[in-house]
Amino acid sequence: MVRAICKDVTFTDYPTLDDCAIIVYFAGCEHNCEDCQNELFQDSASMRDTYTDSDLLDVIYEKCLSNFTDKVVLSGGDPLHENNRAFVKMFCEETDLDVMIYTGYEKWQVDTLGLKGYRYLKTGKFETNNRNNDKLDSNTHFILASQNQELWDSDGNLLTKDGIYVL
Ligand code: SF4
Repeated sequence: MVRAICKDVTFTDYPTLDDCAIIVYFAGCEHNCEDCQNELFQDSASMRDTYTDSDLLDVIYEKCLSNFTDKVVLSGGDPLHENNRAFVKMFCEETDLDVMIYTGYEKWQVDTLGLKGYRYLKTGKFETNNRNNDKLDSNTHFILASQNQELWDSDGNLLTKDGIYVL
């Protein structure tokens, strides 16, 4: 069973910002980030909603269909917390949807998990909100990130070290 909340849409969390994405918040996280964005979801017991793997897949695909999107953001908590890892690995490997994962782990730690099939990956603890970074202008994209966090594509290319980048 997976503890998660599958929200309808987000317009700010998928890196390309050209479409809405479905967002799934997973319960469970042990990173204790200084500026935690979702403190409530650190506790695995904080969510009442539990899904079997197949039920959560059904909900994700149904919400993608009804919102005309093929993009999914996995957030939390940490989608790669040990309680959620098996589902996320299976989902990323089997789905044809474009998946973005937010995790508090560093990239080298994610690499040890053998995770495949995601489109984007944001790594590292959330320490300092960079929303006021003076790099931001009309040519840049921004995802909620702290200055230490890194955004990677599926080929292992580092797109940004602070959440602000040009595609
Ligand atoms: S990884 Fe996310 S949920 Fe976990 S402590 Fe950091 S900001 Fe909070």
